Amino acid sequence: CGIVGYVGAQNALDVVITGLKRLEYRGYDSAGVAVLADGGLAAAKKAGKLANLEKELADRPLPTGTTGIGHTRWATHGAPNDANAHPHLDNAGRVAVVHNGIIENFAELRAELVERGHELLSETDTEVVSHLLAEAYSSAGDLAEAMRQVCRRLEGAFTLVSVSADAPDVVVAARRNSPLVVGLGDGENFLASDVAAFIAYTRDAMELGQDQVVELRRDGVTVTGFDGNPGTYREYHVDWDA
Ligand code: GLU
Repeated sequence: CGIVGYVGAQNALDVVITGLKRLEYRGYDSAGVAVLADGGLAAAKKAGKLANLEKELADRPLPTGTTGIGHTRWATHGAPNDANAHPHLDNAGRVAVVHNGIIENFAELRAELVERGHELLSETDTEVVSHLLAEAYSSAGDLAEAMRQVCRRLEGAFTLVSVSADAPDVVVAARRNSPLVVGLGDGENFLASDVAAFIAYTRDAMELGQDQVVELRRDGVTVTGFDGNPGTYREYHVDWDA
């Protein structure tokens, strides 16, 4: 339901939690975060309100990092419990994905992954994406290219935001028929399902066209189509009060 991504110099967890709070009004049943730190990926997720996730993070703190993603879930496939909350990881725990929307052909993709020896741990339509992305990344060696390859196989409506422990200081996202906006900062950049999530940090935004992948780094943003062609987007300034 709500999605946030951050790369910059601030504590990513603080920025992501702040963003998720700004999206709380939309309603949700679970929440989760992932951060890149110390060459690894650390995640936490909890059913219920953000306060439950914050308690979990207080009891079992994540290492501090400057790249992170977050999600509030409105369940469509699978009960609203901890296991089905996002982010979803691949079996090696190197890739994390959060998702808004529905992957229509997930059953077929799931069967294919199980056939190849993947172990899926949730009932969601989303989890297939983390496994497919990890596979594509291991052959492509580039997270944005891996995301383009995966998106070409997906049917349905989705906003996806991902990080890989093997691609530090990078967040890659994609959209089809589901909202995704970029917030352009100075030495930091933001992603969200709604500008309200990052308006406290920047009012320079970028709206993405259909079927676009965006690679976010501290010092720049690259947009491409799912086909790898130059991206379609529109930069604008948010001048209303979110
Ligand atoms: N379909 C996904 C799920 O049920 C994402 C739901 C959402 O948009 O929050 O987990």
